[in-house]
Amino acid sequence: MGSTTLLTAVSDFLRREHGHFINGQCSSGSGTRRPVIDPASARRIAEVHDGGAAEVAAAMAAAQAAFNGEWAATPTLVRGNLLLKLAAALGAHREELAQLETVCTGKTIALSRGLELDQSVAFLRYFAGWAGKISGETLDVSIPSFAGEKYRAFTVREPLGVVVGILPWNFSIMIALWKCAAALICGNTVVLKPSEFTPLTLLRVAELAQEVGFPPGILNVINGDGKTLGPLLVNHPACAKVSFTGSMTTGRSVGNACSARGIPVTLELGGKNAALFLDDLSVEEMVAGILEAGYVNQGQICASAERFYLPAGKIDAVLQLLSQRLATFTPASPLDDDCPLGPLANAPHLEKVQGLIAAAQRDGDRLICGGTRPAGEGYYLLPAAIAARSADSAIMQQETFGPVGAFLAWQQEEQALQWINDSPYGLSASVWTHDLSKALRYSERIQAGTVWINMHTFLDPALPFGGIKGSGNGREFGSAFINDYTRLKSVMMRY
Ligand code: NDP
Repeated sequence: MGSTTLLTAVSDFLRREHGHFINGQCSSGSGTRRPVIDPASARRIAEVHDGGAAEVAAAMAAAQAAFNGEWAATPTLVRGNLLLKLAAALGAHREELAQLETVCTGKTIALSRGLELDQSVAFLRYFAGWAGKISGETLDVSIPSFAGEKYRAFTVREPLGVVVGILPWNFSIMIALWKCAAALICGNTVVLKPSEFTPLTLLRVAELAQEVGFPPGILNVINGDGKTLGPLLVNHPACAKVSFTGSMTTGRSVGNACSARGIPVTLELGGKNAALFLDDLSVEEMVAGILEAGYVNQGQICASAERFYLPAGKIDAVLQLLSQRLATFTPASPLDDDCPLGPLANAPHLEKVQGLIAAAQRDGDRLICGGTRPAGEGYYLLPAAIAARSADSAIMQQETFGPVGAFLAWQQEEQALQWINDSPYGLSASVWTHDLSKALRYSERIQAGTVWINMHTFLDPALPFGGIKGSGNGREFGSAFINDYTRLKSVMMRY
């Protein structure tokens, strides 16, 4: 195992002039140049032109024209086949895209390859598999017949039109493709707005989509500042639906704008996800579970656990062993094949996470380990464990979205269940125990969109994913996405 050398295709791509992908063409536009920073070195690696009203108008017009043209009427098997071709292209360009993801986000190359790319391919194939299966039903209606006439009624699933996808920076390819593939297989067209911190990867994916035969205008990417572009996109008359993944605050404002316009919105927002460990587990088992649940991708996964409830009799031993394990997470280049710890994804985020750790210490929570920046360049932060003062501590309530576990001892399981549900969020949770009967009973009582048992953060295309309470609404994946990306039309006839 060694360090990955950047492919020429990646270096060449970084050197190009970047902007948007509209109507089947890369265009740099004329907006302000925004630097793209490699979080591992804090150095500028590329530049992207910001889009504005003109680019939004062009992207929305292209998507609307493509929708009104042949796309919605294209047989779903043809649409599905294009998604399969895109999946194959991602597979063929796996290393190139994984390297691009790593230099843009700081994600370790192993995660970029094995999670970001391989899972993106899996999701594309899954959505392609829905071709020919998105349909309505025939209904048994009860209209009285006076002269022998009969009635037949059925429903059809229709695409909505142009779907706007607004994206976060943590999985810059995969989250985009969740939205894109769901929208496209249903017959919609898309305009995607990446995070300002990760504008590049999707431009390359859009080029590949074009190469495998997606007609122009079906898939558009527009880059720039979310505060400017977000309202322009959401309020554009052609925007028929918004699928947003990001923070609770921004999501709420997007949700309000959509309800003011009367258009549907899917909101995949943040979480303060809980993991409950029962007393029957060994200290080693608990630590292994905590590392899986809380620290993958430096904790920058919306479904990661951030608050951990441990039995009072074992918490000290768990925190001691956890500190030892976390101390082995030494910062390295995320391009190293066996890098245990990459940087956080961007400077403002690093500052936010450090601020939350400092605030916790001021509030009387106890920093057990980590939480400081190692010497050297880049946005690295040593993974932290914090023993919380109480269930009400801000560090047990506010999302950090970083490598920061907050820990609290429970005396009674009932008390821990109450703490878990006492949260404005409800994205995910996990219960860890050998007692599966108890775990299943607790899963029924935990208020979260997903509850894992003896595992955490695993997403599967077949399993609906989404939040409740402040963590959002709507569901991605499974069959549940169909409701969110189509509208139902009823047809009735007399014969
Ligand atoms: P933000 O909410 O800051 O940004 C998300 C997107 O919204 C970005 O593209 C951003 O653009 C854009 N945006 C900013 N302002 C507006 C606006 N006024 N109107 C419309 N769009 C706007 O989230 P982050 O990118 O910081 O992502 C981290 C958050 O995302 C965390 O809270 C995390 O939990 C959540 N998340 C949730 C997931 C889920 O599935 N539930 C998955 C992944 C992350 P710009 O970048 O230019 O500001």
